Amino acid sequence: MKTNMKTEFKEQLEKIEERMKNIKYKVAILSGKGGVGKSTITANLAVALASRGRPNLIGVLDADITGPSIPKILGVRGGHLNAGPAGIFPVFGPLGIKVVSMDFLLPSDETPVIWRGPLKSVAIRQFLSDVVWGELEYLLIDLPPGTGDEALSIMQFIPKVSGVIIITIPSEVSQLVVKKAVTFTHELKAPIVGIIENMSGFVCPNCGSIINIFKVGGGEKIAEELKVPFLGKIPLDPRICETSDDGIPFIVKHPNTPASKSFMDIVEKIENFFKNKEEE
Ligand code: ADP
Repeated sequence: MKTNMKTEFKEQLEKIEERMKNIKYKVAILSGKGGVGKSTITANLAVALASRGRPNLIGVLDADITGPSIPKILGVRGGHLNAGPAGIFPVFGPLGIKVVSMDFLLPSDETPVIWRGPLKSVAIRQFLSDVVWGELEYLLIDLPPGTGDEALSIMQFIPKVSGVIIITIPSEVSQLVVKKAVTFTHELKAPIVGIIENMSGFVCPNCGSIINIFKVGGGEKIAEELKVPFLGKIPLDPRICETSDDGIPFIVKHPNTPASKSFMDIVEKIENFFKNKEEE
């Protein structure tokens, strides 16, 4: 029985690897804790990457099974995953972004995902072994919040993760959890693309200037301390919340804002990170 389970597990991993073989970069987005804007950033980075000459070449795997929010932010809530003999086909979002999320499988808005840990891990493994991603340049993986079992098990199902991006906010508490996230990534032997500091300063809706209500620069400081790259700061902007609720990606609706410019700068750094790796 045990041997059967082992074989089945191995076969599934091989199937996942086969399904993902035409994905150039698999980038996991990690945060030490929930509510720091991981999903918001994942969705906007996907749009930013796609907008830089990559229509139909970006995918997002919403692996945050208990609180899947990527479909909402990308405006594809209510979409259906098409399943056929060849496998499960993603839902297409803006700029042809391929989206796969547990949210598409929930019967209604009120349905929470209440599976226990081990069941979740079986479900996501099964799911991943059937998704037909096709050719992608970047697949962004929105991991469950934190550095616990859930994030760990998903990282273990993704063959050869190309890099990890860590999201933090400027407070001290969050800096502590960043250290955990860095250690977590090192233990998995995945390269760290860098740290992004979200909710860094506030954009005044009247004059557009940035007001530093909370402390800023914590993410940069910790990146320096831990000797990992710092990718940039995204300011607090109430319109980020509004656009997510409306299902229009922020950088599409408000391209000329400090936050959108930051997203574009960060994407350039991400591209350079992988370009440099290739040249190594
Ligand atoms: P996580 O995925 O880390 O749990 P979310 O991406 O769901 O976090 O973001 C949590 C909330 O914060 C959402 O309502 C989102 O719209 C909001 N939010 C995230 N980043 C910003 C920002 N820079 N400015 C304003 N609101 C933000």
